[in-house]
Amino acid sequence: MNDRSKSFSTRAIHHGYNPMDNEGALTPPLHLTSTFAFESAEAGGEMFAGERPGYIYSRISNPTLDLLERRIASLEGAEAGLALSSGMGAIAAALWTLVSPGDEIIVDQTLYGCTFSFMRHGLAKFGITISHVDMTDPDNLAAAMSDKTRVVYFETPANPNMRLVDIEAVSKIAHEGGATVIVDNTYATPYLTRPIELGADIVVHSATKYLGGHGDVVAGLLVGTAEQVSQIRMFGMKDMTGAVMAPFNAMLILRGLKTLALRMERHCANAQQVAAMLEASAAVAKVHYPGLKSFEQHQLAARQMPGFGAMIAFELDGGMEAGRSLMNRLTMIFRAVSLGDAESLIQHPASMTHSTYTAEERAEHGISDGLIRLSVGLEDVDDIIADLAQALSADPVQVAA
Ligand code: PLP
Repeated sequence: MNDRSKSFSTRAIHHGYNPMDNEGALTPPLHLTSTFAFESAEAGGEMFAGERPGYIYSRISNPTLDLLERRIASLEGAEAGLALSSGMGAIAAALWTLVSPGDEIIVDQTLYGCTFSFMRHGLAKFGITISHVDMTDPDNLAAAMSDKTRVVYFETPANPNMRLVDIEAVSKIAHEGGATVIVDNTYATPYLTRPIELGADIVVHSATKYLGGHGDVVAGLLVGTAEQVSQIRMFGMKDMTGAVMAPFNAMLILRGLKTLALRMERHCANAQQVAAMLEASAAVAKVHYPGLKSFEQHQLAARQMPGFGAMIAFELDGGMEAGRSLMNRLTMIFRAVSLGDAESLIQHPASMTHSTYTAEERAEHGISDGLIRLSVGLEDVDDIIADLAQALSADPVQVAA
């Protein structure tokens, strides 16, 4: 069943696989093999020369990964997909393939901590300029583009402060300047936003998050045109990083994708109620959630990611000490990084996921020290709200620094 006209959940369950090709096995086979035997020496040589299709070695491709790659491409509305060992593997493989010394990458103000570090402390060492632009206003990008700009890169919503970027407007400006647009779609997932359909070129994912959905795997995915994906596969993944996904992990992501739509519906519904509760709390100074009318970019969110996702950032009166105290009083919500799992998870970006930024960099990039990040899970929403309510209403507890 390869019919793109089928709707999202149907493709998430069926796309690219017919049990009748595998003895009727409903679940696709797991190809636990590092290498593949060639029918003849000539056939092997032809495969290496790209003159004959087939599998060679699992750092290049593998039938289990192949199914996942076709499925994510279908869900994102892209020509081709690639399965990598982690979200960072996907980001690194794409950028190592696309940029050369002397090139510039323009990125939004806020990026996930390790992406920021990879660019600022990694790529920058090799003569690549990283320029930050506030892309919440696309005109800022138009003013910043130069003949050296090779890639325009952003997250929407951004981790951790939930800033949104208008994918369509920014892609148009980037393309006028001849740059490739890469969007990290980890927070929204293709269920809520499909950047390729809005004009982006490449989409990267930490599949560790909503796509896997169960907190049991670290994995990355990437989609783009067949040509781009083939270049990233054969250079960025195979030679530069070796960051290929393990076949067993591909099985877990394929299983997660089957329930993505269902889970996202529940995640979004829970988050909307939790955000409203936080906004109504006297202890909370500010809530950043695209589904709230008070969210500055609510109109853009409604157009670009209906459903609004399940990530919430908020700040408490009393700043960081109050935030830490709140986190320590929670009894059901786990204090943990990562996101998109069934379990609700809470963490403090400044000392955890975004500690790769210096204090000055965090201030410059809009990551306040008091910001708390909540990944709203799939538990009964009343229990999530009750846990937050008891923690917010309790007397402040002094916590050792
Ligand atoms: N992109 C975003 C937005 C993330 O939140 C993360 C991880 O938290 C990554 C990329 C990196 O993904 P991974 O941890 O799978 O390498």
